[in-house]
Amino acid sequence: MKKIIAEIIAIGDELLYGQTLDTNSHWISGELDKVGIKVVRRTTVGDIESEILTAFAEAEKRADIILITGGLGPTNDDLTKPCLAKYFNCKIVMFEDALRDVTAFFASRGRELTELNRQQAALPECCKAVRNELGTAPGMWFDRGEKVFVSMPGVPHEMKKMMTEIVIPQLLEKYQTPFIRHQIIKTVGIGESFLAEKIAAWENALPPHIKLAYLPSLGEVKLRLTAIGQSAKTMDAELKECVEKLKPLASQYIYGYNETPLEAVIGQLLRDRKLTLSIAESCTGGYLSHLITSIPGSSEYFLGTMIPYAYEIKMRQLGVKPETLEKHGAVSEPTIIEMANIVRAKFSTDIGVATSGIAGPGGATPEKPVGTVWIAYSDKHQTVTRKLQLSTDRMINIRMSSVAVLNLIRLSLPK
Ligand code: AMP
Ligand code: MG
Repeated sequence: MKKIIAEIIAIGDELLYGQTLDTNSHWISGELDKVGIKVVRRTTVGDIESEILTAFAEAEKRADIILITGGLGPTNDDLTKPCLAKYFNCKIVMFEDALRDVTAFFASRGRELTELNRQQAALPECCKAVRNELGTAPGMWFDRGEKVFVSMPGVPHEMKKMMTEIVIPQLLEKYQTPFIRHQIIKTVGIGESFLAEKIAAWENALPPHIKLAYLPSLGEVKLRLTAIGQSAKTMDAELKECVEKLKPLASQYIYGYNETPLEAVIGQLLRDRKLTLSIAESCTGGYLSHLITSIPGSSEYFLGTMIPYAYEIKMRQLGVKPETLEKHGAVSEPTIIEMANIVRAKFSTDIGVATSGIAGPGGATPEKPVGTVWIAYSDKHQTVTRKLQLSTDRMINIRMSSVAVLNLIRLSLPK
């Protein structure tokens, strides 16, 4: 079966000025992936005739399906329709069905139908009109040989309805598509290059039709395996086999699969062991607790947090010894050990964790540069600490410290 290839063209000056994020292309890519249509390129062009025509011509050379959004408004700045008429060399004529829809749209809202709006039902003669139930600009479907161009409105909810209810079903009637399957393996606590070295032999032995991608984010690396083929069942079995072979090579780092976030995995581990958790978080300022409590049912295992942000609060409210703070400072191993142990005792939980660091951009000393963070885990058997040397960016430090604590919990919990 031939691979079916698509390109997406997003049209609109606002996308290039950085005023509007091109969420349409992102969404369309996801929908096409679900039905086995491979997107090979996405292009963004402004409302400029020559750019639009060039984008059409280039996309037609490469792709079977060209999906276009934007530029369909009734005003002069929107050029997609006249460009399509020029590209396909046909006149713009009134489509009676489309005119009925536009008329009904305005009548239902008790608004007058202006000439500009009437003209929205005038389309290139050589296209099929695609109904727009939520707006006034119809979509346009052009067949040329085995290729298809579909133009849809830029307004996201109008485009989505048209795409889901009309365009995708019609594409699937026209083209026989394979299945595209993804398996995501989520790792934490190892950088992508180190991970790549560890699993090189496994990667090299992957079957040629299974592609591997490394997708790093703050503190984590996702491995995505993608298979394209005729039988979803066979591919799922093959992907499962690949995962099984990977497990022994990276078991220390793999925490979950597909969409499950690390905080959900931690929640499940605590629930399975019937253990409770409390937190003393300084440099993360509540972000770690936010992650934990974003998981439904977290009240089963999470009892509470104290945010002893100021020096005095660390002493007076939490109870870190003044001499510890004076001798070693707030960002130090002795302090973090006390923080984790004290919060565990104060909240009467099985586990206490703590963070203290220099999130930045200020607050650094020669010995403790921005991004120096101490984290600790405490239970009745052990207290485990880690020193992290992170970045100079405040939000990155907050996020990465929180992920590091979640990982420390995962690795330190009793088996
Ligand atoms: P248009 O079809 O060009 O008149 O676009 C109408 C509105 O849809 C614009 O003002 C944007 O707010 C929105 N829009 C257009 N293109 C996109 C896109 N690619 N992603 C998200 N929103 C868009
Ligand atoms: Mg526009």
